[in-house]
Amino acid sequence: MKAYELIIIGAGPAGITAAIYAARRKLNFLLISKDIGGQTLLSAEVKNYTGYHFIKGTDLVKKFEEHLRDYKIKVKIKERVKNIRKIGKNFEIITSKSKYQTRAVIVASGKKPRKLKVPGEDEFHNKGLTYCATCDAPLFDQKIVAVIGGANSALESTLASIPYAKKIYIITINSKLYGDKVLQDKILKNKKVEVLYKAKTTEVLGKKFVTGLKLEQNKKERTLNVEGIFVEIGLIPGCNFAEIIRKNKWGEIMIKRSTKTMAENLTNISGIFAAGDVTDIPAKQIIVAAGEGSKAALACFDYLGKQQEGW
Ligand SMILES: Cc1cc2nc3c(=O)[nH]c(=O)nc-3n(C[C@H](O)[C@H](O)[C@H](O)COP(=O)(O)OP(=O)(O)OC[C@H]3O[C@@H](n4cnc5c(N)ncnc54)[C@H](O)[C@@H]3O)c2cc1C
Repeated sequence: MKAYELIIIGAGPAGITAAIYAARRKLNFLLISKDIGGQTLLSAEVKNYTGYHFIKGTDLVKKFEEHLRDYKIKVKIKERVKNIRKIGKNFEIITSKSKYQTRAVIVASGKKPRKLKVPGEDEFHNKGLTYCATCDAPLFDQKIVAVIGGANSALESTLASIPYAKKIYIITINSKLYGDKVLQDKILKNKKVEVLYKAKTTEVLGKKFVTGLKLEQNKKERTLNVEGIFVEIGLIPGCNFAEIIRKNKWGEIMIKRSTKTMAENLTNISGIFAAGDVTDIPAKQIIVAAGEGSKAALACFDYLGKQQEGW
């Protein structure tokens, strides 16, 4: 089994930044991730990353990756971490492809879309049902689509669909929309958009591809004929594999915020650090995740040094 000083899990802004810092400190480490870019790939336009007035999420990820490739970093992509086990002072990381040993870990596995959990959802995933309108809206040119959700991500998805779709239903279980007022104003005055309030999606319908959905509204069942469904009901932390780490009630990894570098971004387990959206830091933003990744790497470097000195 291969052994490292550090394994970083996740290659979103937090994990990539942690990797760049770890490389500059010449740690012997491995970066494991399902993809490169994480949620930033889903952002149509980023307007709040310092130095870039405006940049597409996919282009920002290209920049991140180029920066990462400046260093000779060992990277395993398309590999999913399934478990972390503590073995003495070290850890064993079990993935979909292999097992690794490491002295320290940085969990930077971010968030993933929350599922509707209704019949047909899994069957028609990527066959008309998607979790990323920003990525897939152009596929539904001149089609009738439904955006499920009622807060910012649903509003952003609706905006992404407006140039393409013939008609867009927003389906929300609430009696009003939540999210930025500016987005709501833009959306509600667009004639293509119809909002169905207090409506609960109960089934996704289709043959080879999505043909519609069933919903309940005012205690009545209704079928909508749509060819595209964007599920935008929020995100959940992607850290089921980290059973040994303490989490808050939302499933986010609890980290220490301390003025002492040694403890910064440390979880309840000595040697396991966490950074970015997977943690309980309140601001879920690209620049914050990147900053947290750097902090975690520096704290981890400090931890490894002190461990070696026998502190
Ligand atoms: C539609 C959308 C638009 C957004 N727009 C903006 C914006 O304009 N500006 C802004 O600042 N923020 C925006 N955000 C938020 C921003 O994208 C996140 O705050 C940021 O990406 C968090 O970075 P992260 O590295 O913590 O996690 P993520 O970006 O979620 O990355 C997590 C990484 O971990 C990997 N991973 C997950 N589980 C595993 C596993 N088990 N094994 C291996 N790898 C795993 C993933 O593949 C991914 O590479 C947006 C988010 C969304 C969804």
